[in-house]
Amino acid sequence: MPELPEVETIRRSIIPHCEGQMIVGASVRRESLRWPIPAQLNHILLRLKIKQIQRRAKYLLFDCETGTLLLHLGMSGYLKLVSPDTVPAKHDHFELLLENGLCLRLNDSRRFGAVLWTTDPASHPLLKNLGPEPLGQEFTAEYLSNRAKNRQMPLKTFIMDSKVVVGVGNIYANEALFRARLHPNTPVGKIKPAAWRNLVDSIKLTLAQAIESGGTTLKDFRDSQGKPGYFQQVLMVYGQAGRPCCQCQTLLEEIRLGQRTTVFCPKCQSL
Ligand SMILES: [Zn+2]
Repeated sequence: MPELPEVETIRRSIIPHCEGQMIVGASVRRESLRWPIPAQLNHILLRLKIKQIQRRAKYLLFDCETGTLLLHLGMSGYLKLVSPDTVPAKHDHFELLLENGLCLRLNDSRRFGAVLWTTDPASHPLLKNLGPEPLGQEFTAEYLSNRAKNRQMPLKTFIMDSKVVVGVGNIYANEALFRARLHPNTPVGKIKPAAWRNLVDSIKLTLAQAIESGGTTLKDFRDSQGKPGYFQQVLMVYGQAGRPCCQCQTLLEEIRLGQRTTVFCPKCQSL
């Protein structure tokens, strides 16, 4: 599943080819993905200029003069830039034809993605209740500690709640907690200020490193004919249960927490 670092990498890859471009054609090949694609979207988009491509959580926001096109890649979606005469592949559900002659296509085999239009992204139901961006300035130890006050939920569940902070998916939550030496099951109300600071730094570092490694993996976006090969990262705990901890050689343990696979070092991350 594309996570925040992949979506950010995709955004950075398409910006040079899409920002400032006029949309000279749009094709909707399916009526709906996760939600119905707005009727007439191809007419709405025609002759609009893509002023800016922003990201909020895992949504890509194509800001145009009269509104914003929202794209979400769901479980299996990806974007590719192709020549317009490339025959659409199976599951190529939506595309924008740009004045520079490139075609931006959305392929989504499982159809959990989204293609939506809004004139007011800030108050859109999918966006308005989201917590801050993990790489933004609002995401601080003070903020987290305030949100955690008088709550006893497990730390990992807390940082994966998109109302608390967006984009900390399961892999990144596992890795950041290991880096911060915090047990995933720690009740959030018991965490000290220094540990919050450590955790915020760890989350930012984990995501920033993933974005950096993605930038090298997805270097030539225009060539992507098949799947983009979402980047393989060096993972310290996720998927490593039963193997020795890279810090202390203790065997990593796996538990289920909030129905998600959770791996940690019982020594480095003691409760
Ligand atoms: Zn360890």
